[in-house]
Amino acid sequence: MTSTDVLIVGGGIVGLVAAIELAGAGMKVKIIDAGINAGSTANAGSLHVQMQSRFMRLYPGQVPNIEASLPLYRAAVEAWVDLDAAHGPFDLVRKGGLMLAESPDQMAFLEQKVQRETARGVRAELLDRAAVDRFAPWLGQQIIGAELCLDEGKLNPLVANVRLRAAADRLGVRIERDWISAITVEGGIVEARGRNFTHHGDRVLIAAAWGAGPLARSHGLDIPTRAEPLHMNITEPCQTRIQHLIQHAERSLTLKQLGTGQIVIGGGWPAEDRGERTVPGVLYGSLLGNVALAAQLIPSIGGIRIIRTWAGMNTTADGASIIGPLPRAGRIVMAVPGDAGYTLGPLVARMAAAEMLGRDPPRDTAPFSPGRFAAQSP
Ligand SMILES: Cc1cc2nc3c(=O)[nH]c(=O)nc-3n(C[C@H](O)[C@H](O)[C@H](O)COP(=O)(O)OP(=O)(O)OC[C@H]3O[C@@H](n4cnc5c(N)ncnc54)[C@H](O)[C@@H]3O)c2cc1C
Repeated sequence: MTSTDVLIVGGGIVGLVAAIELAGAGMKVKIIDAGINAGSTANAGSLHVQMQSRFMRLYPGQVPNIEASLPLYRAAVEAWVDLDAAHGPFDLVRKGGLMLAESPDQMAFLEQKVQRETARGVRAELLDRAAVDRFAPWLGQQIIGAELCLDEGKLNPLVANVRLRAAADRLGVRIERDWISAITVEGGIVEARGRNFTHHGDRVLIAAAWGAGPLARSHGLDIPTRAEPLHMNITEPCQTRIQHLIQHAERSLTLKQLGTGQIVIGGGWPAEDRGERTVPGVLYGSLLGNVALAAQLIPSIGGIRIIRTWAGMNTTADGASIIGPLPRAGRIVMAVPGDAGYTLGPLVARMAAAEMLGRDPPRDTAPFSPGRFAAQSP
């Protein structure tokens, strides 16, 4: 036995919520985090459920995994609602999300998407412009309709991160800065080799997002986690009242208004890739393109100033979450969310923590097992 029951590599939303779950159940938990490029400290706070058109366009091969995961996204928003009640408020609003269409082709794409999503239990419907006007009359005249997904929402990630970190502190979770280069299991003890220290624990949870794949490689798994640098903007506070999460059927946009009145504008515009362990750079083309698109779709925000713009690191793999023990090393458990990882984060963390505690997970983890990557291993 070591003095730490569970080491958690990665202190983003997944590592933090898993730590709260495990420490809340009486375990001694230590988070080790490299302190660089956490998507959780850069993200936009959209609670996504419907399939994102950007993801479908960029990663068509991963769409079947996303589609199969739709019930997980619905449950993930519920997990955020729970977490908000326990540790919030996080400025969480769940009034739904609108995906806008400007052409009959885009409406046809949305119509098909609604059918596929409702078949998986998502609350989605297609609205014509007159119906959209009842709650979003401020949209540009070119919008001819939208998909409304009632399961979606938004929150303020800066508030949520601070409150969750405070909850972990209250439970005695230790957080140390280190870069882990390898994890081994010897005589029932896990060793995580760091640049600064060697850390020991009874078990380890890998919640390291883009850094997760390399840590699993020596255990026979080829998990294709990839760092994806993305761009974000936020405006000064303004009067416009936008209740819904806004996206577009074909163009890269997510837009929402926080309780502070500020509008967060993103949607997957690229940032400059400087390697996964360096903060990505802002690309002016993304800044200009992203905010120009937002102002085109919502003309009333055209005069509002952008007060901050930043770049952060997202993670992609195969579209589905990766949750559960490694087939050849059961003391090592993975917890990497699929696309829209901030939305999925708390639920993925709870599922992985339940596995470690020997409890029934809130959702079946079998479809998300890391074992699916074993076949591609050398
Ligand atoms: C600009 C942007 C906007 C986004 N917007 C949204 C959104 O609106 N809604 C949504 O649902 N999702 C969004 N995402 C995605 C979301 O932020 C991430 O998927 C999610 O935060 C991942 O959480 P995580 O806990 O798995 O990992 P992260 O938050 O990425 O944290 C991983 C941590 O592990 C550490 N680490 C990695 N390797 C090692 C190692 N070897 N040793 C030690 N530490 C290591 C990293 O330093 C990092 O701190 C966005 C992402 C970006 C970049």
